[in-house]
Amino acid sequence: MARLKDVFIGLIFHKLTVVGYPFKRYNRKHYYVNCKCICGKEKEIAVTHLGKANQISCGCYKKEVCKDNSIRKPVICLETGKIFPSCRDGSLNMGLNRDAISTAISANHAAGGYHWKHI
Ligand SMILES: [Zn+2]
Repeated sequence: MARLKDVFIGLIFHKLTVVGYPFKRYNRKHYYVNCKCICGKEKEIAVTHLGKANQISCGCYKKEVCKDNSIRKPVICLETGKIFPSCRDGSLNMGLNRDAISTAISANHAAGGYHWKHI
């Protein structure tokens, strides 16, 4: 967590870089500061939130992590009982398009002649 007097332009918190001076928002208790995220987006962030685990980026990082998690969801082949660490692994192992199994699961149809399920 950052203290107001420690905040200066160029200071980096995770994926955010401070690009402005802290300012007080009308009728708000906290000071805010403009930060630039590594994705290029600028965002006003409460100074007290800087450096906190839930304020790693403008929000893009969280999305990135969630995306990764869904890719790594293990998947089982219902007919053979074979388990793969992810849809992509299963697809590649079966010689299919890498999105074949995830598409099959969401559309509820077969991929590579087999049915698949997340476990
Ligand atoms: Zn971002």
